[in-house]
Amino acid sequence: MKEKWQRQLQNSKRIVVKVGTSTITHPSGKLNLERIATLVREIVAAAKGREVLLVTSGAIGIGSARLGLTHKPTTIPAKQAAAAVGQGLLMQIYEKFFTEQGKIVAQILLTRADLGDRQRYLNAKNALDTLFSYEVIPIVNENDTVAVDEIKIGDNDTLAANITALIGADLLVILSDVEGLYTADPRLDPAAKKIDVIEEITPEIEQLAGQAGSTFGTGGMQTKLAAARIATKSGAAMAIVHGGREGNLAKVLSGQCPGTIFLPQEPLAGRKMWLAFNPPVCGKVIVDEGAEDALRERGKSLLPSGIVGCEGEFSAGDLVSICGSAGREFARGLVNYDASELKKIKGLKSNQIEAVLGYRGYDEAIHRDNLVLL
Ligand code: GLU
Repeated sequence: MKEKWQRQLQNSKRIVVKVGTSTITHPSGKLNLERIATLVREIVAAAKGREVLLVTSGAIGIGSARLGLTHKPTTIPAKQAAAAVGQGLLMQIYEKFFTEQGKIVAQILLTRADLGDRQRYLNAKNALDTLFSYEVIPIVNENDTVAVDEIKIGDNDTLAANITALIGADLLVILSDVEGLYTADPRLDPAAKKIDVIEEITPEIEQLAGQAGSTFGTGGMQTKLAAARIATKSGAAMAIVHGGREGNLAKVLSGQCPGTIFLPQEPLAGRKMWLAFNPPVCGKVIVDEGAEDALRERGKSLLPSGIVGCEGEFSAGDLVSICGSAGREFARGLVNYDASELKKIKGLKSNQIEAVLGYRGYDEAIHRDNLVLL
């Protein structure tokens, strides 16, 4: 008997496939043409009866190799230049290989600024829907040539998850250089076991991905978990499988995930989904237990009286992270006051705001309509 999630994988109609630099390049940085040809064949096979979007990395690595750089560039302008060279090469090869398989492709380059602006986000969605109606395979990467750190999504796992939510895909498949998520770093611990199914991303699962700076964390598991949080919250499943093994994509689509599968969660509504994961998070608001309970359990707005502290230089209208007293983020929302104002009115009743700030603003620090539980 197949599990419900296995049938969902088999029935998926719109999917996102993400491929990392190490899968499509040789260690020298040059394109691994054989691997790309296989990948393209696998994607074309997956696209029979389905809509498939490809998120590909590799622009910076391939561009660096083409420029004859011995090291991957570290400065922003050098990365931007390498990406500008590499992105063209990358598309040239995908264009050639997909054309040979009878498929039309399209290039879409996005930045955080595109996804963080609701209008531009919806424009991108409309363009992608239209491409699907023409049976085109959209190929997405971050627009590294114009993205500086402040406006960067930064990694394509997160970009792929945001795109999964944007197009309402039912599955995100991450083709990685590891087999899945393990109970410990398999390179260091022979007893490490692969986790086959993750029903929910609990704090224990987060621990497995390693704290920043741990060896395992640098393997990229943290960005994959962040991606899983976004994709599953949009109602999609997410699979991590090894990208170097032919047939893994087809296995996932047949309901047999050879790696790790994250099961879909109850999806957030459209605007709240966008709000939670697309605009940049500009700061942090720490709330007391009573406020956490009111937000989590009783559908209330966040009042200044429940706030015990705030961090960062945010302005009214910015997206901030809402954390409980233990420091764990549990919600995000658009704040009604600047950080400097919130510091003055935290802990106060709404009717005391005017006396402190000199004007009568909002009763709520964050209104319920602009607040999302994570
Ligand atoms: N956009 C980057 C590139 O094409 C890759 C980012 C990533 O690998 O996560 O080189």
